[in-house]
Amino acid sequence: MDDIDLLIDLHGEAERQGPGGEAQTRLTITLSGLSGRKNLTIADIGCGTGASTITLASSLDAHITAVDFLPAFLTTLNERARAAGVAERITTLAASMEALTFAPASLDAIWSEGAIYNLGFETGIRSWRPFLKPDGILAVSELTWLSDRRPAELEDHWLEQYPQVATASAKMALLEEHGYTPLGYFPLPELCWMDNYYHPMQARFEAFLAKHEGSAEARAIVEAERLEIGLYERFSAFVSYGYYVAQKRPD
Ligand code: SAH
Repeated sequence: MDDIDLLIDLHGEAERQGPGGEAQTRLTITLSGLSGRKNLTIADIGCGTGASTITLASSLDAHITAVDFLPAFLTTLNERARAAGVAERITTLAASMEALTFAPASLDAIWSEGAIYNLGFETGIRSWRPFLKPDGILAVSELTWLSDRRPAELEDHWLEQYPQVATASAKMALLEEHGYTPLGYFPLPELCWMDNYYHPMQARFEAFLAKHEGSAEARAIVEAERLEIGLYERFSAFVSYGYYVAQKRPD
């Protein structure tokens, strides 16, 4: 098994593949101002097994294209959508977020939870903007420093993992620079990391390691997750995902 297959095995059955929460997705829907609008066209990019997709489909009068490059996650998403009674509102699309083919100015909104980092925040907000209608909404969560200073150990770790980690004010300046008006920002609370993401993952470690006994790659994956969880537990006052809701400024 290569690393991707191991990651699918560790995360594929999970409700979510990154920090987040249903209440937090609902809050971004409120901030977006889209509630009550009819017949919306939305993309959920890097949707994983669809936690946010299903909340969007249940909350808005919308058709949602759920995009991820891992078809295994999309299969699970479709099963969950059927179980939630929202399958007819969702189309899954196995594609890379780097090469999306939505028509120009065709989307009322783009949501993306815990995924834009794969492209890099700045490249993501720049390259996805043409797909939005002139007043379209962008709602993305992104690794964010919660203050202007932080312990070196935490800073060193995240700067190595994701050099674009920055404060909310820096992220909002980028949104403004790239043709968006910020409508709202909030950091995800600790329960989005611990209760919704890390604890369920920790509960899967033992079975995962037993299944892949002897795989150095599997052990390395678990070790890296444990290191990240340990850092978060010690330093959650300094880092989170920020959820940013912004509106495209017409060209
Ligand atoms: N939004 C989901 C998943 C977040 S994890 C949630 O919050 O639960 C990041 C997701 O991005 C994974 O599902 C991963 O498969 C997907 N991904 C990573 N790189 C990608 C790429 N280049 N194109 C499309 N999807 C990608």
